Amino acid sequence: MSILPQALLCSVNKHRADRHKVTWDGVHYVGKCEGCGAEVYRIAPKQWRLLGPQ
Ligand SMILES: [Zn+2]
Repeated sequence: MSILPQALLCSVNKHRADRHKVTWDGVHYVGKCEGCGAEVYRIAPKQWRLLGPQ
């Protein structure tokens, strides 16, 4: 577990989504980041990235 606020992690592109609320789009798990509300997808366990072009 991390003691850093999620909002701080979001600022360095380390998002976190509630895995109980994500959906499978056929390629990745997709959901909303709990820290910033952005659409994110999972690239690896506990690693989420912003969805769409950056
Ligand atoms: Zn975030």
